[in-house]
Amino acid sequence: MPRLSVYLLHIDPPYAKRSHYIGISSNVHKRIRRHQCGQGGKSTKRIIKAGHIISWVCIWDNVPWAFENYAKRRFRRNICPWCVGCSEYHLEKLLDDFYRELRRSYGTS
Ligand SMILES: [Zn+2]
Repeated sequence: MPRLSVYLLHIDPPYAKRSHYIGISSNVHKRIRRHQCGQGGKSTKRIIKAGHIISWVCIWDNVPWAFENYAKRRFRRNICPWCVGCSEYHLEKLLDDFYRELRRSYGTS
């Protein structure tokens, strides 16, 4: 199985009220560069074309596939340290919470 990384991108200024993008890739640095060049996907292509800047904030390496959706769900509340400051919520905690909930769902904690 390929090693997967989930990444968080910050969009500046926000595009159509959207200021973040979360994705997953087995080649995360290449994938992020493609997003930044407008070749990463439909939505980020539009964002780049409109002149917005996409910067990477965080990469969670070697994570299970399900972590992407978990991170997206949790991101309904903005936890980007660039937006809300580092003291608000640590991004490492997101992965800890994910594994904690996963263990709970398997009844092993
Ligand atoms: Zn942000």
